[in-house]
Amino acid sequence: MKVLTINSGSSSVKYQMIDTHTQQSLCRGLVERIGISGTCMSHTRADGHKTKISNNITNHQTAIEAILKILVDPEHGILSDLGEIEAVGHRLVHAGEKFKESVLIDNEVRDKLYECIEYAPLHNPPNIKGIEAAMENLPNTPNVGVFDTTFHNAMPDYAFMYGIPYKYYKQQGIRRYGFHGSSHLYVSRRAAEIVGKDYRDLKIITCHLGNGSSIAAIKGGISVDTSMGFTPLEGVIMGTRCGDIDPGLIFAIAARENFTLDEASSFFNKQCGLQGISGLTSDMREIEAAAAAGNYQAQLALNVFCYRIKKYIASYIGVLNGADIVVFTGGIGENSYTVRSQSTKDMDQLGIELDEAKNCEIRSTESTISSEKSRIRVMVIPTNEELVIAMETERIVGQHRGR
Ligand code: ADP
Repeated sequence: MKVLTINSGSSSVKYQMIDTHTQQSLCRGLVERIGISGTCMSHTRADGHKTKISNNITNHQTAIEAILKILVDPEHGILSDLGEIEAVGHRLVHAGEKFKESVLIDNEVRDKLYECIEYAPLHNPPNIKGIEAAMENLPNTPNVGVFDTTFHNAMPDYAFMYGIPYKYYKQQGIRRYGFHGSSHLYVSRRAAEIVGKDYRDLKIITCHLGNGSSIAAIKGGISVDTSMGFTPLEGVIMGTRCGDIDPGLIFAIAARENFTLDEASSFFNKQCGLQGISGLTSDMREIEAAAAAGNYQAQLALNVFCYRIKKYIASYIGVLNGADIVVFTGGIGENSYTVRSQSTKDMDQLGIELDEAKNCEIRSTESTISSEKSRIRVMVIPTNEELVIAMETERIVGQHRGR
């Protein structure tokens, strides 16, 4: 099945055409700066042909129109007719407890998605705009929503409950949800395939480290715990998010800065993490370069980042009662040997020992980076969330056709 995947953010839309039969991407692209001057669209075909277009894209509707146009463009496209798109798969961030799995989107489901906005006010509205634009432009093509949260649905209650009055969970769904589900699912399944063992027999810890970062403990294919919570703010520190903090800090800083609730939310989401500690940048490449040049705050940001990851890995070894595999993925996990090395350092008593020479060589390729002696295998696996979305889309469309 040819599936168009859409990841619609507040000012950008990422897309890919995926042939689920071959599991190959036929083309991919990104529309950036939607509604801001200087909109730019980049489009790359699987044969390496690339094009960049600067045009005036004012909203998600026109962004989707531009994507569909380039897909059938005689020079840059890969389709002769839009009818070749058999389904559209949307990455959706937060389902609350309304959706337990991926869903075929009709008008009723779309209305229910509006009810999920409160769970992720920054992410869910642009996701819905992407859906509406796709439904309007491709009225006869099925749309499927694949949620970042659903892979973590089976977490046990003691892992997802916060220590707050139970009624907030019961009446308002306030609990830990977790995110990056498609990525954790993809790399853990792929790890099992690579080592040639049954996924259901393995205990895997997956570290998705990018601008947003989360870690998951996966037992027999089920996510039993993950570091992000009700929102993506919880867990390890991230590019601009604070990660785990004493909740008392929110009051202490809000009082000092005289913040409104919105200002406090923006502060802890956008001015903290690597950015906040370094005072320089949220970008790991720049943090590493500044640390190497002797910048104390950049080195500290790197050290805090790695230390928090190490604590999660160690605690998940406890949660799982041992682990078979630790996987690094995401822009940082796939590329930064420094982060991989530092966040697994001195863990030989827990069963982790890297082959440092191998670790230093590996960038964005599937590989094992642990030593022969390491009881736990440490791997680098580039993530492929779009493939999970496309395969889920095919599965859900197939289910409905079979009815
Ligand atoms: P997003 O969460 O937005 O999808 P990515 O997964 O692309 O982000 O990760 C972006 C992060 O990956 C940035 O902090 C970037 O600096 C980091 N990164 C990319 N390449 C490297 C590299 N070679 N070394 C260290 N960090 C890298």
